[in-house]
Amino acid sequence: MMTVPEYFGCKAFDDRVMKARLSQPVYESLRKTMDEGAKLNLSVANAVAQAMKDWAVEQGATHFTHWFQPMTGITAEKHDSFISPAPDGRVIMEFSGKELIKGEPDASSFPSGGLRATFEARGYTAWDPTSYAFIKDDTLCIPTAFCSYGGEALDKKTPLLRSMQALNKQALRVLKLMGNDTVKYVRTCVGPEQEYFLVDKALYDRRPDLIFTGRTLFGARPPKGQELDDHYFGSIKPRVAAYMKELDEELWKLGILAKTEHNEVAPAQHELAPIYTTTNIATDHNQLTMEIMQKVAARHGLVCLLHEKPFAGVNGSGKHNNWSISTDEGVNLLSPGDTPHENAQFLVFLCAVLQAVDDYQDLLRMSVATAGNDHRLGANEAPPAVVSVFLGDELTGILEAIEKDAPYAGVEPTQMKLGVHTLPRFARDTTDRNRTSPFAFTGNKFEFRMLGSSNSIACANIMLNTAVAQSLKEYADRLEGAGEDKSQVLHDLIRETVRKHKRIIFNGNGYDDAWIKEATQERGLLNLRTTPDCVPCLLSEKNADLLTGHKVLSMAELRSRCEIMLENYTKTVSIEALTMIDMARKEILPAVEEYTTSVAAGVAAKRAAVAQLSCSYEAGLVSKLSQLTDQIAQRTDELELAMVHLGDESDVMVQADYVRDEILPKMGSLRAAVDEAETLTAKKYWPFPSYGELLFGV
Ligand code: ADP
Ligand code: MG
Repeated sequence: MMTVPEYFGCKAFDDRVMKARLSQPVYESLRKTMDEGAKLNLSVANAVAQAMKDWAVEQGATHFTHWFQPMTGITAEKHDSFISPAPDGRVIMEFSGKELIKGEPDASSFPSGGLRATFEARGYTAWDPTSYAFIKDDTLCIPTAFCSYGGEALDKKTPLLRSMQALNKQALRVLKLMGNDTVKYVRTCVGPEQEYFLVDKALYDRRPDLIFTGRTLFGARPPKGQELDDHYFGSIKPRVAAYMKELDEELWKLGILAKTEHNEVAPAQHELAPIYTTTNIATDHNQLTMEIMQKVAARHGLVCLLHEKPFAGVNGSGKHNNWSISTDEGVNLLSPGDTPHENAQFLVFLCAVLQAVDDYQDLLRMSVATAGNDHRLGANEAPPAVVSVFLGDELTGILEAIEKDAPYAGVEPTQMKLGVHTLPRFARDTTDRNRTSPFAFTGNKFEFRMLGSSNSIACANIMLNTAVAQSLKEYADRLEGAGEDKSQVLHDLIRETVRKHKRIIFNGNGYDDAWIKEATQERGLLNLRTTPDCVPCLLSEKNADLLTGHKVLSMAELRSRCEIMLENYTKTVSIEALTMIDMARKEILPAVEEYTTSVAAGVAAKRAAVAQLSCSYEAGLVSKLSQLTDQIAQRTDELELAMVHLGDESDVMVQADYVRDEILPKMGSLRAAVDEAETLTAKKYWPFPSYGELLFGV
């Protein structure tokens, strides 16, 4: 049997393979492209393509595909085989540099939000050499960006790469101005912790809501939920353990650094965390991880649910985006250091993040907005919809001392003068275990916790990178204007940033209603509760200036993204509503009706036998169930009518608002009646597996 180090990355065309299979000049040229973004010439591309194809064919691959991330949020691929006819009637396996660099998927059905008129429906894909190619299902997958012929981004990777460049540019400026001349580039790194549910496939197959929407639209609470906290970090059941083992193996083969697997808070809920890596690669890997999770589940008779809220009444699933900035020299700029210089650097970058999160709260909230995630945020199980930053008491104290020019009252009072004094030693705040903060500093990284489990992490990181690039740009501009003595300017800069942005710092309990009140009424922070509330902010002047100014998204791209997000919201909820109507009419009403009739028939039979029997239990049940049947039928009709009305609207914003204000509440009241009926209907009549079976059935 092969050991993990022996098979790790065996399906990735990684640095090891490149070194072994490319000539030294080709390797060096490719490395330069990967590390520094140098242009790649066709002869290098040809050599790389040849080596990639040979390697892939040896591994049994027959096809290649440009693997990309359209705005549907999942990945897309179109397979071409390597075969090429030879004159003697046989075939040879071929793959050229051109095919590696550029592809033209007929991608007219991907959402473009009006960017790609149908007469020029072809978009093209362009190789991203910074992310390793890999083999999946006998196909060589080449990570690519996806653009329209006008050059507009139609995917999530393009703006992500642009945002990394923007941050790199501004961070380098700041570092140089602070006297650091050796750094060549700066990168953001991400480790996304991924939550998910596992349910039994046979049970899943009997739930149209899970099949069509990924979440249960009906379902009465089981007698046991997550109240005992006995699942969290609990011992892993054999079937789940076998799943996790195979999942790790599959991910490791692809070179994905799967590290931690454990049970989560809700029954049937689990988490997987990889070791952090460059944002762009972390994003590709997270997309792949989600795909492989679902594939491996199928082999174990399971279904992996990535929806943010598969079950009412127990926790939903999110994704924690652990984010830091590091240099090519391996220095983490968000790590407090030991020297005055390192400390000044740390504080500057810390302040840049504080300022970014405060200035662009709305963009960060928007970057995680989906119909599914709306069920979590602000629902006392995930961070509130109000964005704030947790720093911990000690670091907050240090910033306050700088702001007020007062000594920091630590173990020994220390005057804080940037560039002269070292930061007082402070312990990593243990309250970071408090999971209620949407954006927490956890020692040497920030953890953005608002992402939904099914979200691509690209969007959140695009906004985060760009917003921080903007703070850094302002700092760099100011430092450039300063003469030789930069440390006074730095000091003032930090003091002013703290003064101006400290309202975003909150170390308390984010679930507390008092906080929401304080945040919105006293501090003036935003509370954008739903997707339609926050998506339009993408087009506000402040945000459009940010994103166009750093060349991350153009105005046309912003408009298209806004439209796609709203459309996606409306479509998602519409599918849910239609599924509910279908389930109610075709299965729930007939089931309740049948059960009621059988109880009523029992009453009649009993009374025929003994005339004076009261049968009050049965009679009560029959009338209660009849009432509920009427309610269910009526609410189904109302929901259907609202759906007809929705179809009459054509403006995406009006539609999304209507969905939030009319459709979702109607779905909620239909569900309430159905769930009550479920608790009164005999098990053998109920058409769907119960919450109890789904949550405890694996
Ligand atoms: P926990 O949140 O349970 O304490 P860790 O903080 O160790 O766990 O790690 C959570 C995730 O954060 C992992 O994916 C890990 O690789 C990632 N992580 C750790 N350090 C960094 C860093 N400097 N930058 C980005 N991600 C990091
Ligand atoms: Mg964590």
